[in-house]
Amino acid sequence: MYQHKSSDGQVIDLPVTRAVCIGRNYLDHIAELNNTVPDEALFFMKPAPALCDMSQPVIIPSDLGECHNELELAVLLNKPLKNASEDDVLKAIEGFGLALDLTLRDVQSKLKSEGYPWERAKAFDGSCPLSGFVPAATFSDLSDIHFTLTINGEMKQQGHTAKMIRPLLALIAEMSSVFTLMPGDVILTGTPKGVGPLVAGDSIEASLQDGFTVTTRVEA
Ligand code: ZN
Repeated sequence: MYQHKSSDGQVIDLPVTRAVCIGRNYLDHIAELNNTVPDEALFFMKPAPALCDMSQPVIIPSDLGECHNELELAVLLNKPLKNASEDDVLKAIEGFGLALDLTLRDVQSKLKSEGYPWERAKAFDGSCPLSGFVPAATFSDLSDIHFTLTINGEMKQQGHTAKMIRPLLALIAEMSSVFTLMPGDVILTGTPKGVGPLVAGDSIEASLQDGFTVTTRVEA
């Protein structure tokens, strides 16, 4: 069973609830998929069984078309938030980590074209591998957090919080105006460009700032 952990491997005593996510929060990713910038924030969720440990092999479904990597900055909350201010959000952050928002792109494209919800493409079991969480106090400037993804040694994604359309604290405050956020919720903050199909045997290295790296591999 997945449990939240700190970046040094200690279990964090918070429940495993869900991930609350935003689609289309980086212009470069919107452009690569020929999407438009939505007027309203595009929020979606991944339920508890989607959450899993990124350091374990990442299992991708077979026979459902392409499964894409989307590396995102993840935020673990330790307090409830409802109609929160940015200051409330800041006080509710346990730590920052990395998430792979695994996306069945072919399934999603079909659902989108038919106007249906995305759960089959985004919320399946194991669709949200998570790293450990680095304590919030380590981060002095939330507009200067960067993260990278390499696959088989090749740089694929480089994210930086300064490039988010909705900045971190404002994003979570806005989410809390739609959904009551709960202790243990993980917020996924959107993917930068560089998404693409994962295949069994890929080796993945995900890094946050300069000091924290998770390596894993893909299995079908
Ligand atoms: Zn995503």
